[in-house]
Amino acid sequence: MADITETLENVAQQEIPKRYMALLTAARSIEEERLHRKQRLAAAFRLFSKCGFDEGVAGHITARDPEDANLFWVNPFGMHFSQISVSDLICVDHTGKVVEGDEPVNRAAYAIHSQVHAARPDVVAAAHAHSLYGKTLSSLPVLVEPLTQDACAFYGDHVRFDDFSGVVLDTEEGKKIAHALGDSKAAILRNHGLLTVGLTVDEAAWWFITMERSAQSQLIAYAAGTPITIDDENASLTASQVGSHAAGWFNFQPLYERITREQPDLLD
Ligand SMILES: [Zn+2]
Repeated sequence: MADITETLENVAQQEIPKRYMALLTAARSIEEERLHRKQRLAAAFRLFSKCGFDEGVAGHITARDPEDANLFWVNPFGMHFSQISVSDLICVDHTGKVVEGDEPVNRAAYAIHSQVHAARPDVVAAAHAHSLYGKTLSSLPVLVEPLTQDACAFYGDHVRFDDFSGVVLDTEEGKKIAHALGDSKAAILRNHGLLTVGLTVDEAAWWFITMERSAQSQLIAYAAGTPITIDDENASLTASQVGSHAAGWFNFQPLYERITREQPDLLD
């Protein structure tokens, strides 16, 4: 968690409440950190379902194991996001083998996420789903534009991957996606959907949620007229305010509290 606490100074104009700061900076054993990540992961799936990001069996969020960096936790293939609890999560190694859990892994989850985790040692979590507005925006030759304060979180910090060639089933394709992602927090996969990453599960999940909403907002703006874009200087400033690792993490906290209160069985 050292990386994220260092970024706290970048959170301009807001002070993170003490109860959240304690959570963010807490020292945890490996076992505690693993459980913490799995709880956040299960909560993220429930939230994705609540947001309507489920499309049949598509979509995956991964959390790197805190002990073995080559392992990641992910949803079992074919289980609805709304029904995923901590004990349902499976652990997959760098060859795609399920090393914990009885359910299979979605081949695309392995192909994409293993390569993103390998290329980005700083990244703890990655999220991808076939959400409606994200996939619609991906079919247009555009980025998420700085049309609103919230959308500025992605200003200069996301990419397009313009190489659609069917369902991503091999790691070579995943490697290309990871290469395109570079140091960014997100990618628009053309004709496919959104992909986000973070130093925490919380952050990756929040970027996905807010990126999808920014895509929706952008499409509505296009349909309604000719939107006014925030100028470069102000978009950059706003990005530094709303786009930091800590800001991404912080935005997820009330959502986590809401979903664990509404659906406490997710922690089982
Ligand atoms: Zn997909």
